[in-house]
Amino acid sequence: MSDRANNLAGFPASTVRSSVSAEEWKIRVELAALYRWVHRRGWDDHIYTHLSARVPAPVDHFLLNPLGSLFDEITASSLIKVDLQGNKLTETDQPVNWGGVTIHGALYERIPEAACVIHLHTTAAVAVSAQEHGLLPLSQFAMMLLGKIAYHDFTGLEATPEDRQALFDDLGDKQIMMLRNHGTLVWGKSMAQAFDLCLRLENACAVQVAALAGGGKLKMPSQAIVDHTAIQSAKYSAFLRAWDAVLRRLDTLEPDYKT
Ligand SMILES: [Zn+2]
Repeated sequence: MSDRANNLAGFPASTVRSSVSAEEWKIRVELAALYRWVHRRGWDDHIYTHLSARVPAPVDHFLLNPLGSLFDEITASSLIKVDLQGNKLTETDQPVNWGGVTIHGALYERIPEAACVIHLHTTAAVAVSAQEHGLLPLSQFAMMLLGKIAYHDFTGLEATPEDRQALFDDLGDKQIMMLRNHGTLVWGKSMAQAFDLCLRLENACAVQVAALAGGGKLKMPSQAIVDHTAIQSAKYSAFLRAWDAVLRRLDTLEPDYKT
């Protein structure tokens, strides 16, 4: 048990591990890894934004970060379990981010397959969200996602049941949403899938911002090529290997995420 894990959770990591199911502990470990990797990629926004994962039972409970923790401080035992209303089900003095409960709860409540939700505020993604045309087919990253992206206009800080419904209505059957003037929201049927979608989205946004800032005449692929790439990407299935690579590297670099 690290002192850091103890401080964040308010009680020993070993107590958390012994008080939850093996399945929940595994999800805690993987979600902590996701926080650490998001930090390593520079996708975090200090203590803000939130990543979550549904616990196996009851299915309307999910794990969120304690508000105030930097993403590289998150451990498996420091994550807080909440219900859809934001009631804390983990014994801790740490608060959760109410915006996180609203955004993530909206998806877990209405999408039974949602296992993991990622919400980010990266500069590149916020910049693209603020561009009227949204994500353009300027890169392979983008073309693998076009047709899978919803857009949600900014209406203020999400905090009410009405906001939650509006968010879900705009998402429709998509797994990726650009939150206009705000950031991104991605959900996956597994943590590996959510991570993979997030990786491509962040790469696509970074390329778009750089390409538009370059000032040169842009080469836009034909619609036929865009459509062809979309069909190809539907068969893409290496995301489990990509996620395993994250876990493998963290096991070497900062194994305390598992505490
Ligand atoms: Zn946000």
